[in-house]
Amino acid sequence: MSGTYHKPRKRFGQNFLHDEHVIHQIVAAIAPQPQQTLVEIGPGQGAITRLLIDACRELHLVEIDRDLVARLHSIFAQYDNLHIHNVDALRIDFCTLSSTQSLRLVGNLPYNISTPLLFHVMENIECIEDMHFMLQREVVERMAAMPGNKDYGRLSIMIQYYCQVEPILEVGPESFTPPPKVDSSVVRLTPHKIKPVKVDDFFSFSKLVAQAFTMRRKTLRNALKNLLSAEQIASCDVDPGDRPDVIDINAYARLANCYAKGSRV
Ligand code: SAM
Repeated sequence: MSGTYHKPRKRFGQNFLHDEHVIHQIVAAIAPQPQQTLVEIGPGQGAITRLLIDACRELHLVEIDRDLVARLHSIFAQYDNLHIHNVDALRIDFCTLSSTQSLRLVGNLPYNISTPLLFHVMENIECIEDMHFMLQREVVERMAAMPGNKDYGRLSIMIQYYCQVEPILEVGPESFTPPPKVDSSVVRLTPHKIKPVKVDDFFSFSKLVAQAFTMRRKTLRNALKNLLSAEQIASCDVDPGDRPDVIDINAYARLANCYAKGSRV
């Protein structure tokens, strides 16, 4: 690593991993292969980068902090398979990074933008082979939650629409400098080859799921009243008296398809 001290910047969610055991566990879970192209979001001071770089064909780094970008250029100057992009990960079109290969995304993500970043990444899903992300543990629990669980909500349904979700490692605050105020988890996301449900209009699906969970304590009849009548909900084989957090992704797809049909008329 570069000798000078970098003061961690809160606004960029900078909590640097220093725990060698955790870093090795993460890279072992990723298991990069010599023919693969990887993209690391938020490489920071290169804690994970230095183990990835020799193990893959090409590595793209996406880092917003230009001081860290300068540092990364000097640490990894000898590598010609490394491409450093000093850009906001929320704005990059990941699919432009390789025209020939699907990408493996990795990153100890900045927690302050994790949800918008996850949704942005999902918009690029067609060129992604898999993802390994360190996130706030509570976010991983929400991503993996099933109906009836207190953590089940919009994030669970939307991420599970795109991917299989596998929590793989729990990490305590003491593994980072500075330690975050929350626990962390590493999750593996594998895009489905075939989507688990048939959605006729993605915008309607996304809108209906978001609407349902703005009022998770109300019944579906009340939560969705601006989109569907109780009769329409019942015609989708869903009980209008149910709460939004007890019905599964299949039921949400049926409701969204019914709403899309109605809103097209
Ligand atoms: N990977 C390093 C590690 O594990 O030590 C750093 C992880 S730190 C939690 C998050 C990193 O994401 C920081 O390097 C930060 O500068 C970077 N970052 C924050 N917001 C970003 C954004 N919008 N786009 C790209 N990188 C960002």
